[in-house]
Amino acid sequence: MLKKENKDNKVISLQMPSIADLKNPNFKINMSRAERRRQIKFERKIYNKCPSMINEKKYVPMNCVMCDVKMKSIHDTHNPYPITELCYSLEAHKTDNPNRCCTECNEIVTDARMKLSMKNNPQIVGNALFMIKENKIGVAA
Ligand SMILES: [Zn+2]
Repeated sequence: MLKKENKDNKVISLQMPSIADLKNPNFKINMSRAERRRQIKFERKIYNKCPSMINEKKYVPMNCVMCDVKMKSIHDTHNPYPITELCYSLEAHKTDNPNRCCTECNEIVTDARMKLSMKNNPQIVGNALFMIKENKIGVAA
């Protein structure tokens, strides 16, 4: 798990490294090149079989709904909810729904989701944030 921080070094989420992260040679993670490649292969297999996603070979490049940057890979597209309506890649592919966002904008989305969760269920999210802050949740690399 990785700690994802915003510009002010505030932890906004814990998440698995994405395929885009693993492909980036400047991305710091305690894995050998072979381990990174194995992890990418493994994640591709999962994503390509997930019922709410499309196979990466069927992906037609589209622009980010938030910043208009062209997203070249399906693995660089994300559900922008709650910034815009909820949209999985399968739906975007089948109905030409433009509501998908890039990895960079996904950080804004993650932050918005945290705020929404905090509003809806402050005690649970508050406890989770406290545990992250106190390093009580195992965080590698
Ligand atoms: Zn974007």
